[in-house]
Amino acid sequence: MNCYVPAESLPGETRAALTPATTAALVKLGLTVHAQAGLGRKSHYADEDYAKAGATLVSDHAAALAAADLVLRVRKPPAADVAAMKRGAWHLSFLDPFNEKELIQAFVAAGVNAVSLEMIPRTTLAQKMDALSSQASLAGYAAVIEASQRLGMALPMMMTPAGTILPARVFVIGAGVAGLQAIATAKRLGARVEAFDTRPVVEEQVKSLGAKFVKIDLGETGQTAGGYAKQLTPEQVAKQQAGMAKIIAQSDIVITTAKVFGRRAPRLVTQAMLDGMKPGSVVVDIAVESGGNVESSKPGEDVVTPRGVTIIGHPCLEATTGFHATQVLAANFAAWVTHFWDADAKVLRTDPPDEILQGCLITREGAVVHPQFTAKP
Ligand code: NAD
Repeated sequence: MNCYVPAESLPGETRAALTPATTAALVKLGLTVHAQAGLGRKSHYADEDYAKAGATLVSDHAAALAAADLVLRVRKPPAADVAAMKRGAWHLSFLDPFNEKELIQAFVAAGVNAVSLEMIPRTTLAQKMDALSSQASLAGYAAVIEASQRLGMALPMMMTPAGTILPARVFVIGAGVAGLQAIATAKRLGARVEAFDTRPVVEEQVKSLGAKFVKIDLGETGQTAGGYAKQLTPEQVAKQQAGMAKIIAQSDIVITTAKVFGRRAPRLVTQAMLDGMKPGSVVVDIAVESGGNVESSKPGEDVVTPRGVTIIGHPCLEATTGFHATQVLAANFAAWVTHFWDADAKVLRTDPPDEILQGCLITREGAVVHPQFTAKP
């Protein structure tokens, strides 16, 4: 089976879908691996290390794409790349399938089997291939690092002969994978950390990291069978905003990570709350690309309010840690291939489709096969 891994073309994208280590793993399984020259340049993996691990470096993208049985890439592909692939080939990447109906149709038209990394079930069996988690964890870390660099304050408490420096106050809204890592990072840096999430089960996890869980009574919130938050009613959002306003006003850093799977992120931090913050405070909106939790945040920009509050709208914080984001993402890809690999026939064994494949396969053999996307063309 011929696997091709192109370099990413989106400006600012530092990650790659392959490392030298995962090249070796795929070659050991029996795949032929072609990597576009310069694939790991932005994440600091050298071409010669890919070659040493068994990859063939290629510079003719069109030819490599047309010859591939399996393409691994981080970002959704341009539609022209899909059209250039072989019928029956496999394509694995983040796809943003809820918003990419035309791209899904391009996969259908080309007869390419499209796997969406976002849709891999969050189950124990699929943990090794859970790219949402591997990337969210680094995004949570990077949010604290980016915020601390803009803050103009120290984070830990310091007792000095010239007086005591109080610890910075960090408030994390949404304590899922990214939020928990943000809490852990801010704690390691010595900040005083508080957090809130609508899923009550998270309280223990927040406390175990040494942070305070903020209690806001929203009535029934619960979570879906997949472990995701449910969408709040407008009344619940208003209650949440009222409960958070004072804490936000006292915080030096606010990190928002609140997402509702497949839907627009809830708007939780209003302009009035931003106006109530101290000058120099920093807000990081990790949900900026899925609609944003913060009223003034803009994808790809730092916004500074008239009061001097900086709102960081970096759309892909994990890309600021390209080396490690690539390390774990490439491991997710390799785990997916390994899971479906038939060692005797040296092909992907995808029949009958298991729970993981049913969760993440969007198109197959010229048709949309995922129930969440067949219903609404
Ligand atoms: P996510 O990115 O969808 O959301 C981030 C967080 O925002 C979640 O914790 C969510 O509850 C929270 N949130 C949503 N609306 C909110 C609001 N109005 N106010 C405050 N917080 C709000 O979630 P995620 O981080 O990807 O994780 C989702 C769940 O999946 C978690 O329970 C996580 O532990 C679970 N998970 C399980 C596995 C596994 O079993 N293998 C792997 C990864 C994640």
